Amino acid sequence: MFSKLIWLNILTLTLALQTSASQVFAAETALNEVLVDLRVLETTDIHADLVNYDYYQNRINNRVGLVKTASLIRKARKEASNSLLFDNGDHLKGNPLGEYLARIKGIHKGMIHPVYRAFNYLNYDAIAIGNHEFNYGLKFLKAALQGAEMPVLNANVYSIKHNVPYFTPYVILKRNVIDQNGVKHELKIGVISFMPVQIMRWDKSNLEGRVYAKPIVETAKTFIPLIKAEGADIIIALAHTGISSDPYRPDTENAVYYLTKIPGIDAILAGHSHSIFPGPSYQNLPHTNLKKGQINRIPVVMAGAFGNRLGIIDLKLKKQKEGWKVLDGTSMTRAIATEKGKSLVKRHEGLYEVVKPEHLETLRLIKKLGW
Ligand SMILES: [Zn+2]
Repeated sequence: MFSKLIWLNILTLTLALQTSASQVFAAETALNEVLVDLRVLETTDIHADLVNYDYYQNRINNRVGLVKTASLIRKARKEASNSLLFDNGDHLKGNPLGEYLARIKGIHKGMIHPVYRAFNYLNYDAIAIGNHEFNYGLKFLKAALQGAEMPVLNANVYSIKHNVPYFTPYVILKRNVIDQNGVKHELKIGVISFMPVQIMRWDKSNLEGRVYAKPIVETAKTFIPLIKAEGADIIIALAHTGISSDPYRPDTENAVYYLTKIPGIDAILAGHSHSIFPGPSYQNLPHTNLKKGQINRIPVVMAGAFGNRLGIIDLKLKKQKEGWKVLDGTSMTRAIATEKGKSLVKRHEGLYEVVKPEHLETLRLIKKLGW
């Protein structure tokens, strides 16, 4: 009996030693492995809905407003060790505040459009130009963009006069990221942006003779290798275009599906069609994993419209000898309200103060005009 007990003790001790040895070995391997979690946040199709307000009904509307999305942004940033924030375009036009700014107040010297003041305040890393940004003409857009402190991107609208991209086509952001062991690394993130070629029809009077649009997918195929060659570790596309697997056409308005097939693009922020991806409307899309939010294994997100959702892509990156590799990417969206309109998040008071002057001016105008 006694010897049996001793044997049992020896056996337990040996097992314990073996376990701790394998744990040490595993920990050493983990220490050698450099893994970085990078969170990419998206707002899209804000359409000048900065405040949770319905100017047509003249009442609070908790289903819209960047002041609400901003609280989701704050929370999503807090949860992540590394994050980036992008807007995917169509942010200047769509409500009386946007109309008031463009048609009545205008942009004067030293003044910053409240949309860009909001983006500056929230520290966006880069933003896309959407098709609706042309609705008030190139002169207004140019004046308004003076106030944007972050890179403003589009790669497929070209100047006719100079035959070069009219905007900055892409940027390589250098960011310090913290790996899973708390070690700092510099990551070079290529960011490129596109919009539908239909602008030439939709905004003919504003654009004809000044700019022309190149097909999205072909433009991407030209630029992605250049951005890689310039040293980007990963590439994110701000694709102001929707998602459809209809047979490919160069003039497709919804090019995301075909962008996922271009080697080198690691994550896609979609937009323009005001839909939600991942979401049930895409359950029949081929080669799509709605649980992970991937199309053709590439993470994609589309965050509705009017600030009603925040898009989130979580990338897991591994540093290898030949550079950074995306091991996995998943996407989701978070809503500011339930489907029935119950508010899920408080207004971001700091951002509200930033945009309040023009919000109140719009309210005064509506009252004066008797809208
Ligand atoms: Zn659009």
